[in-house]
Amino acid sequence: MKFENQPSYSLGRRTLSTKDVAPGEAGTNVTLISQLTLGAINRGRVLQALYDNGPKSRVDLARLAGVNRTTITGIVQPMIEEKLLVEGDAAPSDVKGGKPARPLFFNPDAPMLGAVLLLPGKIQTCLVTLTGEIKAHMKTEFDPLGDRDAFLSVMRETLSSTLSQAPQAPFGIGVASAGMIDSDNGVILAVNLAPVLTGLPLVDLLQEHFSLPVVIDHHPRALLVGDRWFGPGRGLQTFAAIYTGEVLGGAFYIEGKVYRGLAGSGGELGHSVVQIDGEACNCGKRGCWETVAALPWLRREAGRLGLRDPGNITCARLVKEADDGSKAADALLDRYTRNVAFGIVNLQQTLSLNSYVLHGDVAGGGQMAAERVRQHVEQLVMMRPNQEISITVNGIGEGHTALRGAAGLVLSSHLKVVI
Ligand SMILES: [Zn+2]
Repeated sequence: MKFENQPSYSLGRRTLSTKDVAPGEAGTNVTLISQLTLGAINRGRVLQALYDNGPKSRVDLARLAGVNRTTITGIVQPMIEEKLLVEGDAAPSDVKGGKPARPLFFNPDAPMLGAVLLLPGKIQTCLVTLTGEIKAHMKTEFDPLGDRDAFLSVMRETLSSTLSQAPQAPFGIGVASAGMIDSDNGVILAVNLAPVLTGLPLVDLLQEHFSLPVVIDHHPRALLVGDRWFGPGRGLQTFAAIYTGEVLGGAFYIEGKVYRGLAGSGGELGHSVVQIDGEACNCGKRGCWETVAALPWLRREAGRLGLRDPGNITCARLVKEADDGSKAADALLDRYTRNVAFGIVNLQQTLSLNSYVLHGDVAGGGQMAAERVRQHVEQLVMMRPNQEISITVNGIGEGHTALRGAAGLVLSSHLKVVI
């Protein structure tokens, strides 16, 4: 087999330390790491090295993943036997004077991963290959205020059509869902904009119907996993994904691990408070970040300022109109990006993540919007000398990133990897 046109990226490597522990274990003062945990971390590194660098020989993989050659054989051999990885034709080694070796890469004929993106009123389903390609993509709608049986029937039907296009049974199904999610128990606890989903034990229901393993996580966390495996988060050890749209959410990757909080409840960023006793929020509280940095605010302000068609205003349109010389659009874009910056400043002061990947509406405004956010963050934050804050957009679109992230959740769970 010959591998072509594979990406080449630098890998953010670090040395294995006693801080490398799985979620749920103590994060400090750990002197022993269980074999299970070490295996999960090493598998994650090898897979990430393949994603980041394309096909690589065992020797090169060992070097890139920071593990020794005996370890690499122990990791890749079971994955070759399971037909997840496949050996290509012999190619020159990256190591100077190294012998030609057969590169390893993901098997294009391996089972795929099922992925679902569930947002208020909207379902997307697809299959994702181990290299992140999206197949059999379908979109459908449901009534967010309707009844549960109607929703479940639409969900099962759409997912069935997608999964039926897989040549062999997928490894499992990953669901990225809006709302408050209990990822440990597989339950959607509450979705303010789609009450039909509230209290839904979706993981059990889908597992029973499809007889496949199912995992669920919060939509912004799937975006983060998509960024980490396939997007601007590659090689980073610490960053956050921020989503803005009808709502605002976020997720954290801290020192090489996805941070979930208790039962996956962390990352309700949209409801961090930026205005004491401020605007009323959908969550029933006041002054949440979401009330000043999501689309409902933008529509209201566009209407108040007399901008054209305020009901359909987006960041992308503001950028275009500002570019075309509209002073009003430019001023509103500045306020919107500043409001987005306020929440990032609070995060930066608390966690010093330094890198933020924007998704959703603000990301639709491209690099220009990201640059405005960055400038506001720099003005508002207490910067340390030589500190650089990076604000980027994920160029492949949030739908695909979330679906790939949902697939990444299945892959992590199937291979028991720590990414
Ligand atoms: Zn709120």
